[in-house]
Amino acid sequence: MGLLEDRHGRVANDLRLSLIDKCNLRCTYCMPAEGLDWLTKNQTLTADEAVRIADIGVRLLGIREVRFTGGEPLVRRDLEHIIGSLHEAHPVLPMSITTNGIGLEKRIDGLVAAGLQRINVSLDTICPETFAEITRRRRLPQVLQGLEGAKAAGLHLVKINAVRMRGINDDQAAELLEWCLEQDFQLRFIEQMPLDADHGWTREGMITAEEMRELLSVKYNLAPHDEPRGSAPAQLWDVFPAGSDHAATTPLGQVGIIASVTEPFCQACSRTRITADGKIRSCLFSHQETDLLTALRSDATDQQIAEIWQDAMWIKPKAHGHDAVGLDTPEFVQPERSMSAIGG
Ligand code: SAM
Ligand code: SF4
Repeated sequence: MGLLEDRHGRVANDLRLSLIDKCNLRCTYCMPAEGLDWLTKNQTLTADEAVRIADIGVRLLGIREVRFTGGEPLVRRDLEHIIGSLHEAHPVLPMSITTNGIGLEKRIDGLVAAGLQRINVSLDTICPETFAEITRRRRLPQVLQGLEGAKAAGLHLVKINAVRMRGINDDQAAELLEWCLEQDFQLRFIEQMPLDADHGWTREGMITAEEMRELLSVKYNLAPHDEPRGSAPAQLWDVFPAGSDHAATTPLGQVGIIASVTEPFCQACSRTRITADGKIRSCLFSHQETDLLTALRSDATDQQIAEIWQDAMWIKPKAHGHDAVGLDTPEFVQPERSMSAIGG
């Protein structure tokens, strides 16, 4: 078996497979209000193609886990079929989805029965007004219903992904953490990255990981969690009530902080990405993509497809889509595709 190695010594074994570019929300840090020029059905991976890619990754290239994303993966009616088919071929492969949670309560039992083990739900606020401001849709109740469904389905660990936006939801950080601790969801704050379709991201406008820790300090003390982080993007912190003695107190839970901009973890990155139109991206911020769809739709063998994938990953940039540029340096150029079109 080969591996997805790159020339900087990393090995990618974690596949982010985007199944669709469409979405039923319009988060301002991700999509423009009017949506994007959606892929046509013919341009989008079919269920069989998505399963074949993941299967080749697992059998021939050392992929050890698959996360389905988008756009909004629940918008695809055949998500259960895709997960079920891959599960049948690889019964112990960990599979997860990242979703905005809308409609999840109706689908979760079917998804779990198909083989889904883990789920990340994106939720930036529990305030209906703020939710509408960020997502441009009044759909918080549906997301909360989806989360209830995930809880009722007995999934082991439901993670919540949350972006902070200055002047919009930065003052709600501690409130969201309190709610997640009560609900037994693991909250992970994500630094906003320059991947919005409106190109409105600025370094000054972004809430840094350090600021997030300060925002939480109104209510909580944080201490580094002692489990090794490995290639996980989130740095985990144990959460204690403010003013408590860590040594004598059991933590209330954990919170993760994903500091892609200010404390990047590119040297430990183990991810490889496939877009919904079948392009290999070695990095979220890459300016280069390699077409896999044409090979999939020709008579290319699994081995030939694996070789195209290996070649694309070999040239993975050292960090943030470049070999010598950081996200917050003036030389950084935002990739053409935005987050939903890449698959976050
Ligand atoms: N629609 C699904 C969802 O929202 O979970 C899956 C796709 S979405 C692109 C995946 C993740 O990317 C979400 O957690 C979202 O908050 C995050 N995201 C989108 N744009 C981002 C940005 N500019 N910076 C940081 N995270 C972003
Ligand atoms: Fe849709 Fe997810 Fe992007 Fe929000 S972050 S617009 S839910 S793809």
